[in-house]
Amino acid sequence: MKNKIQKENKIEEAAAEQVKNNILVEDARTGLSVDALKRAISNNLFYVQGKYPEIATRNDYFMAISYAVRDRMLQRWTSSVRQYISGKNKIVSYLSAEYLLGPHLANNLINLDIYSQMEQAVKELGFSLDWLIDKEVEPGLGNGGLGRLAACYMDSLASLEVPAIGYGIRYQFGIFEQAISDGWQVEDTDNWLRRGNPWEIARREISYDVKLGGHVQRYIDEKGKLINNWIPGWVVKGVAYDTPILGYKVNTANTLRLWKSEAPRTFDFQSFNAGEYSNAVNQKIICENISKVLYPNDEQIEGKKLRLQQQYFFVSCSLQDMINIHLRSGDKIENFYEKFVVQLNDTHPSIGIAEMMRLLLDVHRMEWDDAWKVTTKTFAYTNHTLLPEALETWDLELFASVLPRHLDIIYEINKRFLVDVTLKFFGNHQKIDSLSLIGEGRRKYIKMANLASVGSFAINGVASLHTELLKKTVLKDWYEFSPEKFSNKTNGVTPRRWMVLSNPQLTKLITSKIGDTWIKHLEELKGLEKYAEDPEFQQAWMEVKLEQKKKLTRKIHGTLGMIVNPESLFDIQVKRIHEYKRQHLNVLHIITLYNRIKRNPDIDIVPRTFIFAGKSAPGYRKAKLIIKLINAVGKVVNNDPDVKDRLKVVFYPNYNVTNAQKIYPAADLSEQISTAGKEASGTGNMKLSLNGALTVGTLDGANVEIRECVGEENFFLFGLTADEVEKTKSEGYRPWEYYKNNKYLREVIDQINDGYFSQLDQLIFKELTDSLLYDDQFMVLADYQSYVEIQDKIDEAFRDKSNWARMSILNTARMGKFSSDRSIREYCNEIWKVESVPVELIDPSKTS
Ligand SMILES: *Cc1c(COP(=O)(O)O)cnc(C)c1O
Repeated sequence: MKNKIQKENKIEEAAAEQVKNNILVEDARTGLSVDALKRAISNNLFYVQGKYPEIATRNDYFMAISYAVRDRMLQRWTSSVRQYISGKNKIVSYLSAEYLLGPHLANNLINLDIYSQMEQAVKELGFSLDWLIDKEVEPGLGNGGLGRLAACYMDSLASLEVPAIGYGIRYQFGIFEQAISDGWQVEDTDNWLRRGNPWEIARREISYDVKLGGHVQRYIDEKGKLINNWIPGWVVKGVAYDTPILGYKVNTANTLRLWKSEAPRTFDFQSFNAGEYSNAVNQKIICENISKVLYPNDEQIEGKKLRLQQQYFFVSCSLQDMINIHLRSGDKIENFYEKFVVQLNDTHPSIGIAEMMRLLLDVHRMEWDDAWKVTTKTFAYTNHTLLPEALETWDLELFASVLPRHLDIIYEINKRFLVDVTLKFFGNHQKIDSLSLIGEGRRKYIKMANLASVGSFAINGVASLHTELLKKTVLKDWYEFSPEKFSNKTNGVTPRRWMVLSNPQLTKLITSKIGDTWIKHLEELKGLEKYAEDPEFQQAWMEVKLEQKKKLTRKIHGTLGMIVNPESLFDIQVKRIHEYKRQHLNVLHIITLYNRIKRNPDIDIVPRTFIFAGKSAPGYRKAKLIIKLINAVGKVVNNDPDVKDRLKVVFYPNYNVTNAQKIYPAADLSEQISTAGKEASGTGNMKLSLNGALTVGTLDGANVEIRECVGEENFFLFGLTADEVEKTKSEGYRPWEYYKNNKYLREVIDQINDGYFSQLDQLIFKELTDSLLYDDQFMVLADYQSYVEIQDKIDEAFRDKSNWARMSILNTARMGKFSSDRSIREYCNEIWKVESVPVELIDPSKTS
């Protein structure tokens, strides 16, 4: 009897042990405790990387920890997907040719709310979390602001628990890596996938064929219906690669689905002779080329066939995928727009309007009017530019050679549309020409902004001024034709990446005063206003700023071997290099200060460190010259003993999200000095002001709204307004007169021309100075004096440390509007008509 009881106890114990083990097994997969995380990392190191600690590399550890994090996202991800495809909820589909995501690891730790546990786990394993975070190679699948906006919007959609899929291209090579050699930009390929990508899952079973080229065969079928049969020249296959995008402290994990291009079927070389074998291999290479590389142009079109192929490729895969998801939920194609709303991030995906029509007409056999109704209830279009040269057009012949069927469809859309236009603007040929989808110059071309506008139910600009200017300039006739489509959606940035992740010290200080709910409700930063005058808080605030500046100082030293003074004013202009952004105006000011020192070496000026970073499009000669000029001026100024280190010019190479995260928190002054009327919104301006930098800026893009929010007394305004720019130009702008009449400006330009910064080479910068003196589209010389004067005020203001701290605190406190959460709420309520859907977690062991 006693034996039996003992035996039963043993069995129970064993069972209990087993249960415990099972829990432990599960725990290692999904547990969030420090011990579970440690076990998961060790397991992944062994079972995924096939390594043990003695031989593991830093990358092995990076992969092991990343898989441990991904495992903890999977339940949220599958639960979100399951809930969304049930068919009950409307899904936002964001179409963007670019996503500038930045590294995932730290962001996922923050959004999962396991940062400190992971820090501890990694520490107990004997190394530092920062060391692993720094190892991640970021996916640079975008050029600048537009791609970064898409990334911020994906973060906010998930954080607001809005069902969403981001669609794009899985470029094998993202934006090039920039190095500086002898002051010039040199480009290197971005082989970001080289060491593997732990964040994506290849879904080989999700793939679509995409036709290209060829011709259209027309015939009447037995029922008397006109059939358009597109016989393609060739076909590529798009394969889905999915990355989970986790919301901040919620169950929602949305999907970023990027398409990789491949040959449609693997080549059967038995059946081919040698000659055809190499043909087939060539064909495979041609197919893979489509998603090979990101075009490195920002605000500038490159009318290359491959680019059009890229755009069509990803849009066709995405629309086929959405239709597939919709039909699988058992619904009818006619109701597509009730399931999906598709946002076009600029015109790059606007071919989607013609493709949607083709799919509905040719594949789903709908009638034109029904198909047009579905299409125009589906799409909404965001415009991102006011630069006429950046408005996308395609040469008609080139277009026809890639998309012959779509050309027919565009002609038909245009024919029907122009009937309506003629009714409204009878006899007004200017209006008809301007609204037509086809342009006629020496050659015919297709106007993609017009295609996007006619096929969308909503059109928006990205800052209040931008939207107003759109209505008056590039989309004026569209606004007159359908004003009800227009609205403004001012851009925003995610406070998770651009504050919590990149500036944890400031996050902590803010949270110590107002709690941490501001991270999801950025307007709550208002609560800091009452500490703006508090000397203790001011001191703590400036200590955090100094700490960030010291970190950047070390980074600059490590990267460039340069020593800069962290106590100096950090004057920062980081963004793509473009004439309209006017990095050269900044340089003219630096030379002006330098000349003052040369004239009077004992002059009392606030020491400044000018920090530039940004890439130029490889084919943009003047932008590349601006980089060279910055470096050339830096070389002279940094090494002139008269300067006594009061001025330093730094060009920090390879501007990307990783580097941006280190630079923004260290700024005292944010340079937002574009020609008024040229910058659509800007988001760098928001990230900097949020991190406590004061702005020197023109009334351009979102600067206008930032100034309204932070208060005009806390913003350094200069320069012509957009109206004044237009007026000055229409009255006949003569930049040469500004040069002639301003001796300091003249001195600066003459020095550049005389080779003062180029070892007496007088030719090197000529293209740049000639364009300033004789053309100056971007009003650099007209704004020079006003810029120098405001910079003198900034010099003065920086001397009063307490007042500067007060202004800095107020800048942060009043930036609540510029969260991308606010932008996304506006899109949801006013354009998409979608609501949050809290995700219920499903138990992975109970799914059938
Ligand atoms: C925010 C951001 C941009 C956009 O900067 P702007 O100053 O608005 O032009 C470009 N690149 C990166 C890496 C960014 O983070």
